[in-house]
Amino acid sequence: MNSSTGAESVLADGRVLRHLVAAVFRVWAMIAMACACNVASASDAIVAIVIDDLGNRPELDNRIVALPAPVTVAILPFTPGARQLSLHARQQGKEVLLHLPMEAHHDNHLLGAGALHRSMDDQLLGSHVAEAIASVPNAIGINNHMGSAFSEDPSAMRSLMQAIHRHRSLFYLDSRTTGGSVARQAAAAAHVPYLERDVFLDDVDEPAAIAAEFDHLVRIARQRGYALAIGHPYPTTLALLERRLPTLAEQGIKVVGIFSYMNYVAVQPSGAANPATTLLDTAP
Ligand SMILES: [Zn+2]
Repeated sequence: MNSSTGAESVLADGRVLRHLVAAVFRVWAMIAMACACNVASASDAIVAIVIDDLGNRPELDNRIVALPAPVTVAILPFTPGARQLSLHARQQGKEVLLHLPMEAHHDNHLLGAGALHRSMDDQLLGSHVAEAIASVPNAIGINNHMGSAFSEDPSAMRSLMQAIHRHRSLFYLDSRTTGGSVARQAAAAAHVPYLERDVFLDDVDEPAAIAAEFDHLVRIARQRGYALAIGHPYPTTLALLERRLPTLAEQGIKVVGIFSYMNYVAVQPSGAANPATTLLDTAP
């Protein structure tokens, strides 16, 4: 039975003081966490690293999720691991993209399930996009798998962006598999937030080439304040990331998830020319 009924007696046994100390500690901890979770300090540059083509090979997929930084995982729709990997990635603090196959100029036998083709009408394309989104739970955005032909077609991209816009919170990351991509213009017209890749880490799957691209990523980030790379779950790429990611902090580089990256880019004064900035500003 509790005999302490008055404020004086509570003070006397120190409970109020302990409550006060605990409350102050909780506030302090919240402030400290908020600072730690902030995208970057003023002196940091940030990078986002997206690893594509996941969902087919559990061993490699799980090594990506275990990387010691918040890399973003881009999962192919309808793959055997899509759902489970998506859930596991979120549990491990990794953000998820839907890696949507789109028609290319070559090698379309490699597209996989759920691919978008230029011949699709708006309705068919819209239902393909909706089903693909549903197959990768937790996806916060979409980037293209292959897609060199689709990305160059204004009509196809307009249809795609309109379909994405119907899923309100999603954004589009152009992997830029073709220099002729019209994704930026199509995203702007449909008010879909837009980002684009700066560096492909592993177009050449060799250690020296991947290291050079990683250095390129760091250089862009240091000059501009932010940079975005896309890589693939190759053992060579994984080995490089496992080795280099822990060294980035001492170079003043912070790895962030793709959503934080987009928000950061959107509010940077120096990012005025970046499409994400203008598109986010003009979105309804
Ligand atoms: Zn891909």
